[in-house]
Amino acid sequence: MSTPDEDFVACANCFSDRGLRLDAEKIGREIAGACPNCGATEFKKLPISGVGALAHRFFVWGSMWRARYGAAPLIQFNEHQQTSIDIAPWLVDDVKLIERLLGVGFFHYGPRLWMIGEIEPLKELQRPTKRQAIVDRILSEYPERSLLPDESFYRVRVNPSAPGDPKQYDSPPAASAGRGRLDPAGCPVLYGSPDLEVCVHECRVSAEDDVFVATLTSTRSLRLLDVSVLLKEEDVSEFESLDIAVHMLFLAGRHSYKITRAIAEAARSAGFDGLIYPSYFSLLRIGQMPFQTTYGISHRRIPQYQDYEQAKAIPNLGLFGRPIEAGAVSVQCINRLVLSRVGYEFHFGPTGA
Ligand SMILES: [Zn+2]
Repeated sequence: MSTPDEDFVACANCFSDRGLRLDAEKIGREIAGACPNCGATEFKKLPISGVGALAHRFFVWGSMWRARYGAAPLIQFNEHQQTSIDIAPWLVDDVKLIERLLGVGFFHYGPRLWMIGEIEPLKELQRPTKRQAIVDRILSEYPERSLLPDESFYRVRVNPSAPGDPKQYDSPPAASAGRGRLDPAGCPVLYGSPDLEVCVHECRVSAEDDVFVATLTSTRSLRLLDVSVLLKEEDVSEFESLDIAVHMLFLAGRHSYKITRAIAEAARSAGFDGLIYPSYFSLLRIGQMPFQTTYGISHRRIPQYQDYEQAKAIPNLGLFGRPIEAGAVSVQCINRLVLSRVGYEFHFGPTGA
């Protein structure tokens, strides 16, 4: 973040807001000597680039507002604007300091509307009469991937009645299907992931639960539709992008399930054994700001960021039917899973904008 010859201009003690102080301690570096701004010696110090990173993390990421689909920050700052946001009394001096050090002003950000879901394919997916055409496009434009017998993945069960019985790790019976992201009524889906941490998150495990994990492999090559990939599209804007529409869809909450189930249903009818899709918890797992943009352009559409954006998606698996009972998936091993420590990482933002 800072080059070695950058001068340090502030320290964590320069700020009054508790969130900014704690974030500054996380971002700052331990450097001997007095802070050139406040004179304190025992706090982590920040160069100009560090103050910029702190301001971005606190005011931009920290004011992120989630829409039904997508999300956008409510505050931005740059060197062309005077500060025009309302500032809480405990933040007034801090804002003045950042304005002076960076030569910037803070203002309300009017997001480009695609950032909050104004994307044609996404709007059509939400309209039952238009949905099928987009679902058909998803089936034809996303790639097929094979799940091979040497690739293992995990399935976590909370409080199973017979933890050592492999059948307990199959999908639920058909009668209880219809509640998840991919299972329509009557069609169970086995949910798993090669990422064990994601499995644990997805099951919303708590300390009182008895948790077990099965290591699973397929017994033959399974055909999966992979909607976790970054679809490279040419000559379309963010407002028309199927890639961003699908990305936002799988990072949305329960209100999106009707649509994701329709995609799963279509994939099943087309002969696929299941779906690979980005985990809702990908963003938390990696600790990145969701839906990153530069000058209002999605990083998913900037070639030099695309590999990185792709790497952020942690894949989940949904396999149709009851693959353990059907013999398509076998249980290699079952373990008890002991939660020994749960950590939260957080940073701060202002209260309102
Ligand atoms: Zn200081």
